[in-house]
Amino acid sequence: MEQRLQAAIRNIPDFPKPGIQFKDITPIFLDPELFRDLVKRFAQEYKKYSPDAIVGIESRGYLAGPAIALELGIPFVLIRKKGKLPAKTISHTYSLEYGTDVVEVHEDAIAPGSKVIVHDDLLATGGTAEAAGHLVEKCGSTPVLFSFIVELNFLNGKERLEKVAPCHSIITY
Ligand code: AMP
Repeated sequence: MEQRLQAAIRNIPDFPKPGIQFKDITPIFLDPELFRDLVKRFAQEYKKYSPDAIVGIESRGYLAGPAIALELGIPFVLIRKKGKLPAKTISHTYSLEYGTDVVEVHEDAIAPGSKVIVHDDLLATGGTAEAAGHLVEKCGSTPVLFSFIVELNFLNGKERLEKVAPCHSIITY
């Protein structure tokens, strides 16, 4: 599984800006067998946390996230950037290297007291996932796991997130 994933993930140098090695995970979803095995692998890993919901981070958290939620028979909840969700939202502002950003969720999307898995395609500094975790807490629920396909180990995002909940990723660079 790891080898097939590694073969599918493409390195795009200098995207979106010079010096960044972008990990392009989109080829995974061109291969239905690999996609299915990935979903089953995540679902197996998640079961031990008895999650009530999976939240996906915009936008690549929406690729595997809903499929895993479907496999487990639990809700999939969208976390979006500010101003994108149409109904009433709860929001959380977090710091970036320069300035701030905001993540939002529909106020009625996560049942209070839920055990929630936060899913995204890739863990870099952990800032985005950490903000999503705080948003889950603001909804009166508990993040029980941060889940990624890929983790960039050298950016130490895991250390940051593990103050809140454990981290799981399949491929580490
Ligand atoms: P961070 O908040 O620093 O952990 O950044 C994570 C978010 O940025 C995820 O939603 C990723 O999709 C995206 N991202 C950051 N760095 C990369 C990278 N090198 N390759 C692909 N996506 C990245």
